[in-house]
Amino acid sequence: MELKQAAKDFVNGFDDRKGMFPYEAFNIDNVYEVLSKSEPFTMEDFNSSLKKTKISELDYQIYLEDVKRLHQHRVKNRWDYLQFYDEQDTYIMIKPLMTLINLQFKYKIDMFSFMSMEACSNAIKYVKAYEDIDVNGVYPKFEDNSQKFYLTENYWQSKVKGYLSQDKHQKRDSTNNVQDSDYNYFKQLFKGSNCSICGCKFTFDNKPTLDKIDNSKGHSKDNVQPCCSCTRVSLDNLYPQSTLTKSYQSYLNSSQMTPKLN
Ligand SMILES: [Zn+2]
Repeated sequence: MELKQAAKDFVNGFDDRKGMFPYEAFNIDNVYEVLSKSEPFTMEDFNSSLKKTKISELDYQIYLEDVKRLHQHRVKNRWDYLQFYDEQDTYIMIKPLMTLINLQFKYKIDMFSFMSMEACSNAIKYVKAYEDIDVNGVYPKFEDNSQKFYLTENYWQSKVKGYLSQDKHQKRDSTNNVQDSDYNYFKQLFKGSNCSICGCKFTFDNKPTLDKIDNSKGHSKDNVQPCCSCTRVSLDNLYPQSTLTKSYQSYLNSSQMTPKLN
C-alpha cells in the first residue's frame, strides 16, 4: 500500500498532502550541485521515467507555493525543500498511525507483541470471538429458575435400578452398588452440594445424577460424585464444530474425549 493511500484510508477527511519530489532530477554525481541551487525545480525535473508520469500543472503550482512559503521562512536552497518534503512524508503518517493505535487499543491489543498489521487484525478476530466469555463463568450457560431439587424416594429407586442395569450391561462390578437404603444419605448429599463438574445448582430442570469417578468400576458409594446433565452435553454444544479445524474435531471426537454417558 502506498503512503498516500494509507493516509487516505486511515484518516477521516484526508487533509494532509503528501509532498512531491523530483527523484530523477539528479544523480549520485551531481546531487550536491543540483540540490545546492536555490531556484525551484522545473516541471521537467519532476518527470518520472520509472513511473512514466509527469507532474500536473496543478501539482506544480502547489510545489511552487510550498517553495515560496519556505523562502519566507529563511529557506535557501533545494536541500531545505528536501528536508521539508521528508518531514511532510513523516507527518502524514502520524494520523493513520494514531488511528491504528486507537483501533487496537479499543480491543486491548498490545501492538508490540505482533509483527504485522495482519497479526494485529487476527488478534482482533480472537477478541471478537471471545468477547462474551466470562473466564469465571459456568458453561454451557442456561437460565434455570426452576425449583431447587430435592430427592424423592421414587426418583432414587429408579436411579438405583438404572445404575444397576447400566453396570450389568457394561459388565462392571456392581456388588457394592448404591441401594434403595442409601436414600437418606444421597438426599442430604444432593441437598448440600452442587455439580462436581460444572458447579451448577441442582434444580428440577437440572436434576442430579451420579457420575462415576473411575469409569471402569460400578456405581458404588465411594466411586460416585453428584453431577448434573453437563456430563451429557454433547461436545457439539461445547465446541461448535464450525469453529474447529478438522484435525481438532477428530481429536475431540476420539474415544479419549467422548463424554461419559451415565
Ligand atoms: Zn454440571
